[in-house]
Amino acid sequence: MSLLRNWFFVQTAAINPSAQGVEFDEEVMGRLIRFVSSHEVGHTLGLPHNMGSSVAYPVDSLRSASFTKKYGTAPSIMDYARFNYIAQPGDEGVALMPDIGVYDKYAIKWGYKPILDKSAKEEKPVLDQWILEHAGDPLYRFGHQQVGDIVNPSSQTEDLGDNAIKASEYGIANLKRIVPKLIE
Ligand SMILES: [Zn+2]
Repeated sequence: MSLLRNWFFVQTAAINPSAQGVEFDEEVMGRLIRFVSSHEVGHTLGLPHNMGSSVAYPVDSLRSASFTKKYGTAPSIMDYARFNYIAQPGDEGVALMPDIGVYDKYAIKWGYKPILDKSAKEEKPVLDQWILEHAGDPLYRFGHQQVGDIVNPSSQTEDLGDNAIKASEYGIANLKRIVPKLIE
């Protein structure tokens, strides 16, 4: 609960009145817990982290209310995409939390959808075809979690959008708005 509170505060308070305090409304905390539990239920269903998911979205699309309401802030809840620290003052109505996304639904379908009247061996080409249907589409991309040496910049934790430098500049601009008001 404290971790969620701290993340949501640091990452969104610059533009989010519901995160501008020490204690959040129950409604907000409930939504935050739903975000984490969705991710953890993903693990119980067999999904690993997908750190290559959030790179699918252009940084500036994450400032758009219509885009983020339709697509969330990353195509997978299994990324460590955190909250939308890219959104700037004036980006009215922009979504701030990751959600269960296109990749998650696709991965669950791949793992669980019954393929009737086929042996396990006969299922293989069908499953391969489901992957090939989306080959090259960044929404369906998987990126391994990197531990130790980070060699793939498009598969990082804590990043958002397709340009980590640009995204971080927006994030730092928000921190500069938050820090002078910490005591208040
Ligand atoms: Zn996890």
